[in-house]
Amino acid sequence: MSASVVETETTTPAPSPGLREGAFGNATALACRECGHQVALGPFYACPECFGPLEVSYDFPAVTREEIAAGPANIWRYKALLPVPSDIESSPNTEPGFTRLLAADNLAATLGLSKLWVKDDSTNPTNSFKDRVVACALSAARELDARVFACPSTGNLANAVAAAGARAGIKTVVFIPSNLETPKVVNSAVFTDSLVAVEGNYDDVNKLASEIAGEEEGWAFVNVNVRPFYAEGSKTLGYEIAEQLGWRLPDQIVIPVASGSQLTKVDKAFRELIDLGLVEDKPYKVFGAQATGCSPVSAAFKDGKKVVRPVKPDTIAKSLAIGNPADGPYVLDVCRRTGGVVEDISDDEVREAIVLLARTEGIFTETAGGTTVGVLKKLVESGQLDPDLETVVINTGHGLKTLDAVAGSVAPAATIAPTYAAFAATGLA
Ligand SMILES: *Cc1c(COP(=O)(O)O)cnc(C)c1O
Ligand SMILES: [Zn+2]
Repeated sequence: MSASVVETETTTPAPSPGLREGAFGNATALACRECGHQVALGPFYACPECFGPLEVSYDFPAVTREEIAAGPANIWRYKALLPVPSDIESSPNTEPGFTRLLAADNLAATLGLSKLWVKDDSTNPTNSFKDRVVACALSAARELDARVFACPSTGNLANAVAAAGARAGIKTVVFIPSNLETPKVVNSAVFTDSLVAVEGNYDDVNKLASEIAGEEEGWAFVNVNVRPFYAEGSKTLGYEIAEQLGWRLPDQIVIPVASGSQLTKVDKAFRELIDLGLVEDKPYKVFGAQATGCSPVSAAFKDGKKVVRPVKPDTIAKSLAIGNPADGPYVLDVCRRTGGVVEDISDDEVREAIVLLARTEGIFTETAGGTTVGVLKKLVESGQLDPDLETVVINTGHGLKTLDAVAGSVAPAATIAPTYAAFAATGLA
């Protein structure tokens, strides 16, 4: 018994037949996060031994800061650390990443922080961090010769998949809940003629996608059967933050949690950079942010639990509204291991934080970013985050996609006749 366990942990399986050499770069296998069992690189996401989630493992070569800096100003500068081929830049893709890291001095002063940065992923090609993960999933879909590029989505993922598929010239079929915000529906429909609105919530759409993935041949569902490759794309957020800080890790980082994939992968990125000697080994704390109306991970953290109990989401932060988060337990591990916490805030606090970030830093974030900034504020006020340590907060999406969330909170200060007298009467001069 134990001999076979040791064997599965140490033997790298042969690659699937039909794959070209180097199809997944320096990746060597898919390894189970629970039992360590390894399977060949391919369209697999669950461990055949224990049904645990599979994760990409690698054999990294020596990678230098100079090699990375010489790469393109997008996520492919880190291609040696991703499950993609070395000629990835030659295949049409949306070229996401290398978004700005802004010193947020005004917001820092307002909150009483000594040093704060905003990693602004709202400027990605389809205005959310999802372009990063989708670019990695698209590469996997290509290498696996998929006919159809698909996803179930709460909105941002649908936008990113539809756009990336259009650019790559691969057929897309995108599934969304039928009650989504209009901007997110239009932002997908403009890129694909195969947008499917499903009568149900995200968890229903997700279940349908798994069923289709099981029935149809040649479909790559970015967050289902190629999820291990998709998830690796989030590591680029961690790499960029470290590089943009001058190859240093921040002391504290606040990250939104939907499925929890992004948070766990930013931590994975920081550990890889330390292991590769690209940054100095130092402690850092990872904090998770949820909206109270969908806060299963925050609830489990506060209760000291290891298991995340699914909930029925009810929040304006729809891009974070996953009631049964696949990576929830791993978020708990990361936050506990690093000394961070998972916290949640109300929808009103989300709205206030969107306006706060906009008025202090000129950045219009969507409800997910409002959640993250609002949680940052709460963590400072409750003393759970150290105001004297360098902190990064991630803005994962653009406010124009969730206009309705703040349409009732902000408005013109006055509506006037086009005369100086009318203007003077407003008291704004
Ligand atoms: C999907 C999404 C997230 C969270 O992603 P997970 O990796 O599933 O936790 C955060 N912000 C925005 C805007 C998103 O679209
Ligand atoms: Zn397993």
